[in-house]
Amino acid sequence: MNPIVDLRSDTVTKPTAAMRKAMAEAEVGDDVYREDPTVNSLQERAAEIFGREQGLFVPSGSMGNQTAIKVHTHHGQEVICEERAHIYSVEMATMAAFAGCLARPIRAPDGILTWEIIGPQVRPKAENRARTGLISLENTSNLAGGTVYVPKITAHICEQAHAAGLPVHLDGARIFNAAVALGRSVAELTRGFDSVMFCFSKGLGAPVGSMLVGSRAFIEEARRVRKVLGGAMRQVGVLAAAARVALEESPERLHIDHANARFLAEGLAEIPGLAIDPSEVITNILLVDVTGTGLTSFEISGRLAAERVLANGVTASSIRMVTHRDVDRSGCERALKAVQEVLGQPQKSFHA
Ligand SMILES: *Cc1c(COP(=O)(O)O)cnc(C)c1O
Repeated sequence: MNPIVDLRSDTVTKPTAAMRKAMAEAEVGDDVYREDPTVNSLQERAAEIFGREQGLFVPSGSMGNQTAIKVHTHHGQEVICEERAHIYSVEMATMAAFAGCLARPIRAPDGILTWEIIGPQVRPKAENRARTGLISLENTSNLAGGTVYVPKITAHICEQAHAAGLPVHLDGARIFNAAVALGRSVAELTRGFDSVMFCFSKGLGAPVGSMLVGSRAFIEEARRVRKVLGGAMRQVGVLAAAARVALEESPERLHIDHANARFLAEGLAEIPGLAIDPSEVITNILLVDVTGTGLTSFEISGRLAAERVLANGVTASSIRMVTHRDVDRSGCERALKAVQEVLGQPQKSFHA
Protein backbone atom coordinates (compact mmCIF):
# COMPACT_ATOMS: atom_id res chain seq x y z
CA MET A 1 0.00 0.00 0.00
CA ASN A 2 1.16 3.53 -0.72
CA PRO A 3 2.41 5.49 2.28
CA ILE A 4 0.11 8.26 3.49
CA VAL A 5 0.80 11.72 2.05
CA ASP A 6 -0.02 13.95 4.99
CA LEU A 7 -0.64 17.55 3.95
CA ARG A 8 -2.84 18.45 6.93
CA SER A 9 -0.11 20.42 8.66
CA ASP A 10 3.62 20.77 9.16
CA THR A 11 2.99 19.75 12.79
CA VAL A 12 2.88 16.11 11.68
CA THR A 13 6.64 15.84 11.07
CA LYS A 14 8.44 13.15 13.05
CA PRO A 15 11.81 13.81 14.74
CA THR A 16 14.85 13.08 12.57
CA ALA A 17 17.59 10.62 13.50
CA ALA A 18 19.81 13.56 14.52
CA MET A 19 17.07 14.83 16.83
CA ARG A 20 16.56 11.40 18.39
CA LYS A 21 20.28 11.12 18.99
CA ALA A 22 20.51 14.58 20.54
CA MET A 23 17.54 13.75 22.78
CA ALA A 24 19.15 10.53 23.96
CA GLU A 25 22.42 12.29 24.74
CA ALA A 26 21.04 15.53 26.21
CA GLU A 27 22.45 16.81 29.47
CA VAL A 28 19.53 17.74 31.69
CA GLY A 29 18.67 19.38 35.01
CA ASP A 30 15.62 20.84 36.73
CA ASP A 31 14.50 23.73 34.55
CA VAL A 32 12.28 25.22 37.26
CA TYR A 33 15.58 25.84 39.12
CA ARG A 34 16.96 27.08 35.75
CA GLU A 35 19.46 24.22 35.94
CA ASP A 36 18.84 22.46 32.65
CA PRO A 37 21.94 23.26 30.58
CA THR A 38 20.35 22.18 27.30
CA VAL A 39 17.33 24.43 27.84
CA ASN A 40 19.54 27.33 28.94
CA SER A 41 21.71 27.00 25.88
CA LEU A 42 18.69 26.76 23.54
CA GLN A 43 17.16 29.89 25.06
CA GLU A 44 20.44 31.78 24.72
CA ARG A 45 20.89 30.68 21.13
CA ALA A 46 17.32 31.68 20.20
CA ALA A 47 17.80 35.09 21.81
CA GLU A 48 21.05 35.50 19.88
CA ILE A 49 19.48 34.57 16.52
CA PHE A 50 16.61 37.02 17.08
CA GLY A 51 18.84 39.76 18.51
CA ARG A 52 16.98 39.79 21.86
CA GLU A 53 18.02 39.73 25.50
CA GLN A 54 16.38 36.43 26.48
CA GLY A 55 14.33 33.46 25.40
CA LEU A 56 11.87 31.18 27.19
CA PHE A 57 11.14 27.61 26.07
CA VAL A 58 7.41 26.82 26.22
CA PRO A 59 5.54 23.56 25.60
CA SER A 60 3.38 24.91 22.77
CA GLY A 61 2.94 27.89 20.51
CA SER A 62 -0.48 28.55 21.98
CA MET A 63 1.01 28.78 25.46
CA GLY A 64 3.68 31.13 24.13
CA ASN A 65 1.11 33.41 22.53
CA GLN A 66 -1.26 33.40 25.48
CA THR A 67 1.60 34.00 27.90
CA ALA A 68 2.63 37.05 25.87
CA ILE A 69 -0.95 38.35 25.73
CA LYS A 70 -1.25 38.01 29.51
CA VAL A 71 2.04 39.82 30.10
CA HIS A 72 1.20 42.71 27.77
CA THR A 73 -2.43 43.36 28.76
CA HIS A 74 -4.86 43.97 31.64
CA HIS A 75 -8.32 42.49 32.12
CA GLY A 76 -10.96 44.36 30.16
CA GLN A 77 -8.75 45.39 27.28
CA GLU A 78 -8.95 44.55 23.60
CA VAL A 79 -6.41 42.73 21.46
CA ILE A 80 -6.37 43.71 17.81
CA CYS A 81 -5.63 40.85 15.41
CA GLU A 82 -6.55 39.62 11.97
CA GLU A 83 -9.84 37.71 11.76
CA ARG A 84 -8.13 34.42 10.89
CA ALA A 85 -5.41 34.81 13.56
CA HIS A 86 -4.47 31.66 15.46
CA ILE A 87 -4.68 33.53 18.79
CA TYR A 88 -8.33 34.30 18.06
CA SER A 89 -9.64 31.41 16.02
CA VAL A 90 -7.71 28.35 17.21
CA GLU A 91 -6.69 29.01 20.82
CA MET A 92 -9.86 28.13 22.72
CA ALA A 93 -10.83 31.72 23.65
CA THR A 94 -7.91 31.70 26.07
CA MET A 95 -7.35 35.44 25.74
CA ALA A 96 -10.85 35.88 27.22
CA ALA A 97 -10.69 33.07 29.75
CA PHE A 98 -7.18 33.76 30.99
CA ALA A 99 -6.11 37.32 30.17
CA GLY A 100 -9.69 38.68 30.38
CA CYS A 101 -9.33 40.35 26.99
CA LEU A 102 -11.67 40.69 24.09
CA ALA A 103 -10.38 40.14 20.60
CA ARG A 104 -11.02 42.86 18.06
CA PRO A 105 -10.58 40.82 14.90
CA ILE A 106 -10.22 42.69 11.61
CA ARG A 107 -10.38 41.19 8.14
CA ALA A 108 -7.40 42.10 5.98
CA PRO A 109 -6.67 41.14 2.38
CA ASP A 110 -4.46 38.02 2.39
CA GLY A 111 -4.43 38.15 6.20
CA ILE A 112 -1.91 40.99 6.13
CA LEU A 113 -2.82 43.96 8.34
CA THR A 114 -1.44 47.46 7.76
CA TRP A 115 -1.45 50.48 10.03
CA GLU A 116 -4.07 52.01 7.73
CA ILE A 117 -6.37 49.11 8.66
CA ILE A 118 -5.38 48.92 12.33
CA GLY A 119 -5.21 52.62 13.20
CA PRO A 120 -8.98 53.36 13.10
CA GLN A 121 -9.63 50.36 15.41
CA VAL A 122 -7.32 51.59 18.17
CA ARG A 123 -9.34 53.12 21.00
CA PRO A 124 -7.05 54.37 23.74
CA LYS A 125 -8.96 57.04 25.62
CA ALA A 126 -12.78 57.06 25.32
CA GLU A 127 -14.58 56.60 28.63
CA ASN A 128 -17.25 54.31 27.27
CA ARG A 129 -15.02 51.96 25.28
CA ALA A 130 -12.63 49.21 26.23
CA ARG A 131 -9.06 50.24 25.62
CA THR A 132 -6.83 48.54 23.14
CA GLY A 133 -4.13 46.73 25.10
CA LEU A 134 -2.18 44.94 22.39
CA ILE A 135 -1.78 44.44 18.67
CA SER A 136 -0.84 40.93 17.55
CA LEU A 137 0.35 40.01 14.06
CA GLU A 138 0.96 36.59 12.53
CA ASN A 139 3.85 35.91 10.12
CA THR A 140 3.34 33.80 8.10
CA SER A 141 -0.41 34.15 8.19
CA ASN A 142 -1.48 30.53 8.48
CA LEU A 143 -5.17 30.46 7.64
CA ALA A 144 -4.76 33.12 4.97
CA GLY A 145 -2.55 30.68 3.05
CA GLY A 146 0.95 31.22 4.43
CA THR A 147 1.11 34.84 3.32
CA VAL A 148 4.03 36.97 4.45
CA TYR A 149 4.51 40.37 6.09
CA VAL A 150 7.35 42.36 4.60
CA PRO A 151 9.45 44.26 7.18
CA LYS A 152 8.38 47.64 5.84
CA ILE A 153 4.76 46.99 6.88
CA THR A 154 5.53 45.50 10.28
CA ALA A 155 8.06 48.24 11.07
CA HIS A 156 5.44 50.87 10.29
CA ILE A 157 2.82 49.11 12.46
CA CYS A 158 5.26 48.78 15.37
CA GLU A 159 6.34 52.42 15.08
CA GLN A 160 2.78 53.76 15.04
CA ALA A 161 1.64 51.39 17.79
CA HIS A 162 4.52 52.40 20.03
CA ALA A 163 3.75 56.06 19.39
CA ALA A 164 0.21 55.29 20.61
CA GLY A 165 1.64 53.53 23.69
CA LEU A 166 0.71 50.03 22.49
CA PRO A 167 2.86 46.90 22.53
CA VAL A 168 2.95 44.59 19.49
CA HIS A 169 3.31 40.82 19.72
CA LEU A 170 4.32 38.58 16.82
CA ASP A 171 2.91 35.10 16.45
CA GLY A 172 5.85 33.92 14.40
CA ALA A 173 4.95 30.23 14.46
CA ARG A 174 6.40 30.07 10.93
CA ILE A 175 8.70 33.09 10.96
CA PHE A 176 11.53 31.00 9.49
CA ASN A 177 9.34 30.26 6.47
CA ALA A 178 8.76 33.99 6.05
CA ALA A 179 12.50 34.65 6.36
CA VAL A 180 13.32 32.07 3.68
CA ALA A 181 10.59 33.38 1.34
CA LEU A 182 11.87 36.96 1.68
CA GLY A 183 15.58 36.19 1.85
CA ARG A 184 15.84 38.14 5.12
CA SER A 185 16.94 37.10 8.61
CA VAL A 186 14.39 36.43 11.35
CA ALA A 187 16.07 39.19 13.37
CA GLU A 188 15.31 41.69 10.59
CA LEU A 189 11.71 40.52 10.25
CA THR A 190 10.99 40.76 13.98
CA ARG A 191 12.97 43.82 15.06
CA GLY A 192 10.22 46.22 16.17
CA PHE A 193 8.08 43.72 18.06
CA ASP A 194 7.85 43.72 21.85
CA SER A 195 7.69 39.92 21.93
CA VAL A 196 8.02 37.10 19.43
CA MET A 197 6.82 33.51 19.59
CA PHE A 198 8.09 30.91 17.15
CA CYS A 199 7.52 27.14 16.89
CA PHE A 200 10.07 24.35 16.71
CA SER A 201 7.29 21.86 16.11
CA LYS A 202 6.10 23.12 12.71
CA GLY A 203 8.30 23.25 9.63
CA LEU A 204 11.46 23.08 11.72
CA GLY A 205 10.43 19.52 12.52
CA ALA A 206 11.04 19.15 16.27
CA PRO A 207 8.55 16.95 18.14
CA VAL A 208 7.55 19.51 20.80
CA GLY A 209 8.14 23.09 21.80
CA SER A 210 8.06 26.78 21.01
CA MET A 211 10.05 29.81 22.12
CA LEU A 212 9.28 33.29 23.33
CA VAL A 213 11.96 35.92 22.86
CA GLY A 214 12.04 39.47 24.18
CA SER A 215 13.57 41.76 26.75
CA ARG A 216 14.85 40.50 30.11
CA ALA A 217 11.88 42.15 31.86
CA PHE A 218 9.35 40.61 29.46
CA ILE A 219 10.84 37.12 29.81
CA GLU A 220 10.90 37.34 33.63
CA GLU A 221 7.16 38.06 33.64
CA ALA A 222 6.56 35.41 30.97
CA ARG A 223 8.32 32.82 33.15
CA ARG A 224 5.87 33.57 35.96
CA VAL A 225 2.84 33.34 33.63
CA ARG A 226 4.14 30.10 32.10
CA LYS A 227 4.16 28.64 35.62
CA VAL A 228 0.56 29.76 36.18
CA LEU A 229 -0.41 27.87 33.01
CA GLY A 230 1.34 24.71 34.18
CA GLY A 231 4.08 25.12 31.59
CA ALA A 232 7.09 25.03 33.91
CA MET A 233 8.83 21.75 33.12
CA ARG A 234 11.63 19.81 34.77
CA GLN A 235 14.28 17.79 32.85
CA VAL A 236 12.99 19.24 29.62
CA GLY A 237 16.43 19.31 28.02
CA VAL A 238 15.43 16.13 26.20
CA LEU A 239 12.95 18.23 24.22
CA ALA A 240 15.20 21.28 23.98
CA ALA A 241 17.89 19.06 22.44
CA ALA A 242 15.61 18.17 19.52
CA ALA A 243 14.56 21.81 19.21
CA ARG A 244 18.22 22.84 19.03
CA VAL A 245 18.84 20.51 16.10
CA ALA A 246 15.71 21.89 14.44
CA LEU A 247 16.85 25.47 14.98
CA GLU A 248 20.34 24.92 13.58
CA GLU A 249 19.58 22.55 10.72
CA SER A 250 16.04 23.06 9.47
CA PRO A 251 15.80 26.66 8.23
CA GLU A 252 18.19 25.93 5.38
CA ARG A 253 15.90 23.26 3.95
CA LEU A 254 12.58 25.14 4.13
CA HIS A 255 12.97 26.32 0.53
CA ILE A 256 12.31 22.72 -0.52
CA ASP A 257 8.91 22.80 1.18
CA HIS A 258 8.15 26.10 -0.51
CA ALA A 259 9.05 24.70 -3.94
CA ASN A 260 6.84 21.67 -3.27
CA ALA A 261 3.92 23.88 -2.28
CA ARG A 262 4.34 25.88 -5.48
CA PHE A 263 4.51 22.64 -7.47
CA LEU A 264 1.27 21.46 -5.87
CA ALA A 265 -0.36 24.84 -6.54
CA GLU A 266 0.62 24.74 -10.21
CA GLY A 267 -0.80 21.24 -10.58
CA LEU A 268 -4.03 22.13 -8.78
CA ALA A 269 -4.47 25.24 -10.92
CA GLU A 270 -4.72 23.00 -13.99
CA ILE A 271 -7.52 20.88 -12.59
CA PRO A 272 -10.96 22.11 -13.69
CA GLY A 273 -13.18 23.22 -10.82
CA LEU A 274 -10.27 24.24 -8.61
CA ALA A 275 -9.16 27.85 -8.21
CA ILE A 276 -5.74 28.85 -6.98
CA ASP A 277 -3.15 31.40 -8.05
CA PRO A 278 0.23 29.62 -7.83
CA SER A 279 2.12 32.92 -7.81
CA GLU A 280 0.57 33.66 -4.40
CA VAL A 281 2.00 30.49 -2.90
CA ILE A 282 5.33 31.67 -1.52
CA THR A 283 5.74 29.59 1.63
CA ASN A 284 4.65 26.05 2.59
CA ILE A 285 0.88 26.60 2.83
CA LEU A 286 -1.70 26.77 0.08
CA LEU A 287 -5.45 27.27 0.00
CA VAL A 288 -7.38 25.94 -2.96
CA ASP A 289 -10.95 27.03 -3.67
CA VAL A 290 -13.12 24.04 -4.58
CA THR A 291 -16.41 25.86 -5.29
CA GLY A 292 -16.26 25.00 -8.99
CA THR A 293 -16.25 21.25 -8.29
CA GLY A 294 -19.78 21.26 -6.89
CA LEU A 295 -18.43 19.44 -3.82
CA THR A 296 -17.60 20.77 -0.39
CA SER A 297 -14.04 20.76 0.84
CA PHE A 298 -15.08 18.26 3.50
CA GLU A 299 -16.45 15.84 0.90
CA ILE A 300 -13.26 16.15 -1.09
CA SER A 301 -10.98 15.63 1.92
CA GLY A 302 -13.01 12.55 2.85
CA ARG A 303 -12.49 11.11 -0.62
CA LEU A 304 -8.80 12.03 -0.57
CA ALA A 305 -8.34 10.25 2.75
CA ALA A 306 -9.62 7.06 1.11
CA GLU A 307 -6.75 7.54 -1.39
CA ARG A 308 -4.33 7.96 1.55
CA VAL A 309 -3.86 11.68 0.93
CA LEU A 310 -4.71 13.87 3.91
CA ALA A 311 -5.66 17.56 3.61
CA ASN A 312 -8.10 19.55 5.73
CA GLY A 313 -11.00 21.69 4.64
CA VAL A 314 -10.68 25.06 6.40
CA THR A 315 -14.04 26.36 5.18
CA ALA A 316 -16.65 24.53 3.11
CA SER A 317 -15.14 26.01 -0.05
CA SER A 318 -11.46 25.88 0.77
CA ILE A 319 -8.90 23.12 1.33
CA ARG A 320 -5.53 23.80 2.94
CA MET A 321 -2.41 21.87 2.05
CA VAL A 322 0.82 22.24 4.00
CA THR A 323 4.16 20.89 2.80
CA HIS A 324 6.94 19.82 5.16
CA ARG A 325 10.02 17.63 5.44
CA ASP A 326 8.05 14.39 5.54
CA VAL A 327 6.41 14.98 2.13
CA ASP A 328 8.69 14.87 -0.91
CA ARG A 329 8.09 15.70 -4.55
CA SER A 330 6.80 12.23 -5.38
CA GLY A 331 4.32 12.57 -2.50
CA CYS A 332 3.12 15.82 -4.07
CA GLU A 333 2.72 14.07 -7.43
CA ARG A 334 0.64 11.38 -5.75
CA ALA A 335 -1.48 14.01 -4.05
CA LEU A 336 -2.23 15.68 -7.39
CA LYS A 337 -3.17 12.34 -8.98
CA ALA A 338 -5.46 11.60 -6.05
CA VAL A 339 -7.18 14.98 -6.38
CA GLN A 340 -7.81 14.30 -10.09
CA GLU A 341 -9.08 10.87 -9.30
CA VAL A 342 -11.52 11.91 -6.59
CA LEU A 343 -12.84 14.67 -8.83
CA GLY A 344 -13.44 12.02 -11.48
CA GLN A 345 -11.12 13.39 -14.08
CA PRO A 346 -8.81 11.60 -16.49
CA GLN A 347 -5.25 11.02 -15.31
CA LYS A 348 -2.57 13.42 -16.39
CA SER A 349 0.98 12.99 -15.35
CA PHE A 350 2.45 15.68 -13.13
CA HIS A 351 6.16 16.06 -13.43
CA ALA A 352 8.27 19.06 -12.76
C1 LIG B 1 0.60 26.12 15.15
C2 LIG B 1 0.43 27.55 15.39
C3 LIG B 1 0.56 28.09 16.68
C4 LIG B 1 0.84 27.26 17.91
O1 LIG B 1 0.22 26.06 17.94
P1 LIG B 1 0.50 24.95 19.06
O2 LIG B 1 -0.21 23.77 18.46
O3 LIG B 1 -0.12 25.44 20.29
O4 LIG B 1 1.96 24.74 19.19
C5 LIG B 1 0.44 29.44 16.82
N1 LIG B 1 0.22 30.23 15.76
C6 LIG B 1 0.10 29.76 14.52
C7 LIG B 1 -0.09 30.70 13.39
C8 LIG B 1 0.19 28.39 14.29
O5 LIG B 1 0.05 27.94 13.05
